[in-house]
Amino acid sequence: MSSSIDQAGEGPGFSTRAIHAGQDPDPLTGAVVTPIHLASTFAQEAVGKHKGFDYGRTRNPTRVSLETTIASLEGASHGYAFSSGMAAADAVLRLLRPGDHLLIPDDAYGGTYRLVSSIYAGSGVTFSAVELQSPDALAAAWRDETRLVWLETPSNPKLNIIDIEAVAAVAHAHRARCIVDNTFATPYLQQPLGLGADAVVHSSTKYLGGHSDVVGGFVATNDEELGTHLGFVQNSAGAVPSPFDCYLVQRGLKTLAVRLDRQCANADLIAAHLLSHRAVREVYYPGLAHHPGHGLAERQMRDFGAMVSFTLRGGEAAALEVAAGTRLFTLAESLGAVESLIELPARMTHASTAGSELEVDPSLIRLSVGLENVGDLLEDLDRALALAGS
Ligand SMILES: *Cc1c(COP(=O)(O)O)cnc(C)c1O
Repeated sequence: MSSSIDQAGEGPGFSTRAIHAGQDPDPLTGAVVTPIHLASTFAQEAVGKHKGFDYGRTRNPTRVSLETTIASLEGASHGYAFSSGMAAADAVLRLLRPGDHLLIPDDAYGGTYRLVSSIYAGSGVTFSAVELQSPDALAAAWRDETRLVWLETPSNPKLNIIDIEAVAAVAHAHRARCIVDNTFATPYLQQPLGLGADAVVHSSTKYLGGHSDVVGGFVATNDEELGTHLGFVQNSAGAVPSPFDCYLVQRGLKTLAVRLDRQCANADLIAAHLLSHRAVREVYYPGLAHHPGHGLAERQMRDFGAMVSFTLRGGEAAALEVAAGTRLFTLAESLGAVESLIELPARMTHASTAGSELEVDPSLIRLSVGLENVGDLLEDLDRALALAGS
């Protein structure tokens, strides 16, 4: 696939920015790693006269450094770090007022669905869960009071691919905003702002941090008004990440590109292997030629990502056996880190969608493919699939 992201535009490539943007050596000491500034308050020379920092919730030097790095990677003028992906999503959704309507994907991340259906719906914001891959479904769901379209691509857990450029164009024609949750793709594989999205949301808990040791969120935008809103919410609601958490995410970012290159290569081999396995009914991976979003993913993404979902001929009972039967793939929620994980979305990450229009096939297994030796991962899956008695 194209290497255009690393070459795009003027100036340094992606991997260079991941290591250097916002990360000049410390001017005081020469430290090559951004210091973890723990101070909650900063000395002022005279009342209101300071070095740009007054109180830790409002602005912190380690956080500013991280915000500069991620904003640079997303091609954004504004970036705000939050204490979790959900806090980041919430900061964006606070744009909405009672009476406003919002569109979300019909397979949205379970936590996003819960936030919208339980908290926002309770304060008068209405929503529709729509198959956003379909232009007809998008048009049919549109209302006069629709202010925002939220999309995830690749989606979770079915890995559907949504045309960001097309959805953003529809939103803009109606003076609404298009927000992309870019957690699964990361800015290395996909840059939504360049495709017309108004903001990008991340759970930096996943690939950006990349080591399953920090919870965090991020929003990046080139929209001045939205940037002002986000900065105001970050300070006013106060869901800010700790300086140490900022450091961990920034440390993870330095290896994002090389991690993803290997993870995508591993996922590609695993998806092909599962496709040919007799115990497997269906494989969902945008890198597979039969995947409905394959062509679009080729145009919109640098590579196909490292998430693979599949169902088994033996149904839910077999899926439970396989999920409990792997040794290298750890049975756990979350994704995007160096170690491979396996889970059953219907009972784990997406349990909150039970009984709703977002309910997940109970036999669907989701893999987050890590950086282990791929031969070992394939052997682990084969052993577990054999246990499932197929
Ligand atoms: C994990 C996740 C979130 C929520 O992020 P947290 O950091 O867990 O709050 C949102 N969207 C997607 C796609 C996710 O995978």
